[in-house]
Amino acid sequence: MCGLFGIFGVKEAANYTYFGLYSLQHRGQESAGIAVYDGKKIREWKNLGLVSEVFNEEILKELPGEVAIGHVRYSTTGSSILQNAQPFCVNFAKKTIAIAHNGNLVNAYQIRCELEEDGHIFQTTMDSEVIVHLIAKNLKKGLVEAITEVMKRVRGAYSILLLYEDNLIAFRDPWGFRPLALGMLNGGYVIASETCAFDLIGAQYLRDVKPGEILIISKDGPKSYYPFKGKKTKFQRSYCIFEFIYFARPDSYIFSKNVYPIRKNLGKNLYKECPLEADFVMPFPDSGNYAAIGYSQASGLPLEFAMIRNHYVGRTFIQPSQKIRDISVKMKLNPVKEILRDKEVVIIDDSLVRGTTSKNRLKSIKEAGAKRIHFLLSCPPIKYPCFFGIDFPSSAELIAGRHSVEEIRKYLDIDTLYYLSIEGLLDAVGDLRDKVCLACFTGEYPVEVDFSFRKDIAEV
Ligand code: AMP
Repeated sequence: MCGLFGIFGVKEAANYTYFGLYSLQHRGQESAGIAVYDGKKIREWKNLGLVSEVFNEEILKELPGEVAIGHVRYSTTGSSILQNAQPFCVNFAKKTIAIAHNGNLVNAYQIRCELEEDGHIFQTTMDSEVIVHLIAKNLKKGLVEAITEVMKRVRGAYSILLLYEDNLIAFRDPWGFRPLALGMLNGGYVIASETCAFDLIGAQYLRDVKPGEILIISKDGPKSYYPFKGKKTKFQRSYCIFEFIYFARPDSYIFSKNVYPIRKNLGKNLYKECPLEADFVMPFPDSGNYAAIGYSQASGLPLEFAMIRNHYVGRTFIQPSQKIRDISVKMKLNPVKEILRDKEVVIIDDSLVRGTTSKNRLKSIKEAGAKRIHFLLSCPPIKYPCFFGIDFPSSAELIAGRHSVEEIRKYLDIDTLYYLSIEGLLDAVGDLRDKVCLACFTGEYPVEVDFSFRKDIAEV
């Protein structure tokens, strides 16, 4: 969970990157950063906080240049400290390289240990740093060769942007876990995790950076390299299905498909599998909105927004007592008593992770006077952790990892609990059905995970 933005050959590159990161803010709220090349050197600015907190006009003025990369971070590996904010810049052999990474590697620790034995010194706890060290080690062979070495060595999810002299470089793991799109702006190029960033700055979406592709944009234009092409090794396409279910913005195209209609399909399929009579259907906003529209349109049940979201709630840090914790849940969403009183309701949300927020929200719906509550989820039970960049805890902490649907229904204290089937999910993504990663539902990981090497993984 992170957002990437890159730009090449456009004046005020840092300003565009700032706006690009703004539209990718949902992909990470812990830190934000921009690195820019002015023809001579790379300058960077990053800090903990939201894009609007980290940057202002004065700071952006100090970042001149026409090539830039930016990053918003949601930490899935490495702790949330400034040291781990990205882009991450390193100097070596009188050169600077800046990296921005979305995804998680599953063999980073192993490679790090080997590099440390060879004398490499690491500055952070991020797995992205391993990539920079591997590039630096192999750069004398040439840039493409150095990145090829990285791609041969590391396993897992990586959509990556590099800034190296006046080159903007993008490369993506051969499984294609995380999205990355290429666009055009004023004769220059832009690259972003999601196309909603292009819409904001008026860029045109050209295509996705392909899984297994190295794309180097320099003054000679863009050039693509495919180090795995024609090789015997076959990589199963593994687009993260959770990007469609929850993570990406509905106005974005990811993996070449618009998210909005897919979310609506999830709701339509929920109705096919679980048709219910009720007074109305409502989402838990915003994550359930589009599936609820789909359910309402398929069922003919009216759609209500009986849970009101406070859009101005940031992160809530204070959690000392249960009472304060309860207030912080209510801060975000408040039910409308007038609409809910004595009603039978179908509530739609995208997913259950630990179950704790949903329990509190459902309790408040009941307290608002709802007579019967049917809670429907637009994805199957999440039973297994994700090692490829989505922040799911260990199976022990995932509510569906240890409990049956009936046990969860009782715990949530509601009348019906229904999860969309895997078939219903696959149907919603159309022709991508054979190309998605379903590991969080099935436990079948498309890449071998080295459980012995990571403490957090070992808990699974
Ligand atoms: P809970 O009831 O505590 O399992 O939280 C469920 C809510 O968390 C749903 O509304 C989801 O939209 C949201 N959610 C889904 N995935 C994640 C995630 N990886 N991290 C945090 N929240 C998530």
